[in-house]
Order: sequence, then C-alpha cells, then structure tokens
Amino acid sequence: MIELSDVLFRYRDGEFELRILGLELVRGEQVGLIGPSGSGKTTLLHLVAGIERPERGRIAVDGTVISELPDANRRAFRVRNLGLVFQEFALLEHLSVLDNVLLPYRITPVLRLDRAARGRAGSLIERVGLAEATNRLVTHLSQGERQRVAVCRALVTEPALLLADEPTGNLDPVNKFRVIDILRDYAREHDAALLTVTHDHDLLGRFPRVIDIKSIHSEPTRGVPSS
Ligand code: ADP
Ligand code: MG
Repeated sequence: MIELSDVLFRYRDGEFELRILGLELVRGEQVGLIGPSGSGKTTLLHLVAGIERPERGRIAVDGTVISELPDANRRAFRVRNLGLVFQEFALLEHLSVLDNVLLPYRITPVLRLDRAARGRAGSLIERVGLAEATNRLVTHLSQGERQRVAVCRALVTEPALLLADEPTGNLDPVNKFRVIDILRDYAREHDAALLTVTHDHDLLGRFPRVIDIKSIHSEPTRGVPSS
C-alpha cells in the first residue's frame, strides 16, 4: 500500500533534511509512527500524501508512483485514494457538520456527490455519535466532536489508505480512544492501511506495529570517520 525507498526531501527554506531508507506498509496494516518533535513525521505523511514531492527516491501508494506524478495528478490521486486527518481538524466554521463531512465532494470535480456518498456521510455521522448535530455549525461543537467530524470527512470517500497526524492531540482520554477506535474499525472493515503519528503511549498499544522514524532514517553518505 505504501512503498518508500531512498527518499530525500528538503524544504526550500531551512536546513531540515528528511532521508528515509525504506518504509513499507501492506494493505490492511495498522501502524503507529513515533519520533521526537521536529524529526519529520508530518513531512513524511505529506510526502506519502503527495502534498510534498521528494528531491530523490521513489514513493508509491497502492502501486502508483506518486513521486513521479505532476501536481494536478497527485492531487486527484490523493482525493480518490487517501483519507487525511490532521491535528488541527481543518474544518470550515461556517458550515454544518454534514457539509464539512461532504467537503471532499465540493472542492473537486474528481469525486461525484451522489446518493451513496450522502448515505455514507449520514451513517458515519451517526456512528461517531453526532447524528443530532448533523445540521449544526461546527463552531458550536466541542474539540472531541470536531475531531470526530474530521474523521468522518476522511472516511466518507472510502480511502484505501488513511493518514492521521496526531489525530488525538487535543482530546481527553475518552475521546482519544474513541477516535482511534473509529479509525481502526474502518481500516479493518475496509482492509485499508492506517498510518498514525502519535506521541501518546496509551494509544500505541492499539497498534500491531509501531515505527520509530529514527529507525527508517538514513544518514547522508559520508567518508569513513578517521581515528
Ligand atoms: P514533526 O512532525 O516530527 O514534529 P515536521 O515534519 O513538522 O516534524 O518538521 C520537521 C522539520 O522541518 C522541522 O525542523 C520544521 O521546522 C521543518 N519544517 C516543517 N515545515 C516546513 C516548511 N514548510 N518550510 C521549512 N521548514 C519546515
Ligand atoms: Mg508533526
């Protein structure tokens, strides 16, 4: 589902370099990604999502080499195949819960908003316990409720790959387990891969596989140290 090899990425400004030797996730795999702040976890998710493009190396998602696609194609691929959950939720305040969940269908011609999509939105909203808030503006929701809206939005397109960047960072214990379990249940039921960045050691126990970003980082090639 995800294959990365010999990737080098640098931001246009700044010193940061991300070098990844290799990373592989198979279909249906659920992985927790850990590492200190500033170690490139978010950058790595952005590379896998095709939001950023590596300077060197190969990144394939579900057999498509996204690192070689032009911007517009990467965006279309992302919308069709990936579900993204970010820590800041990225909801639109002036829209209702339902309209936020259906947002992927409104911002791109790649997806068609049909009856099936509306049905999925309704069932997801119900499943996360927000049925009564369906038509409420997200401004009026608590943090935990907002994050559940963000999760519904990531799942409504039925992605084969879910990427979540500290999706429980702002949540109390009840809500954080709830959010992780919704993501994990979806992944299991749809045989989707799930890659989640988390600092939270309580949650890591929920993941069959945990990857420390340091363990997949490669050092730049240097001469043999003297002495
Ligand atoms: P993490 O998610 O592990 O905390 P990030 O991937 O967000 O780490 O950031 C890795 C490094 O890249 C940090 O040093 C950060 O300051 C830098 N960085 C992040 N985004 C940008 C950007 N858009 N431009 C330049 N540097 C950036
Ligand atoms: Mg981050």
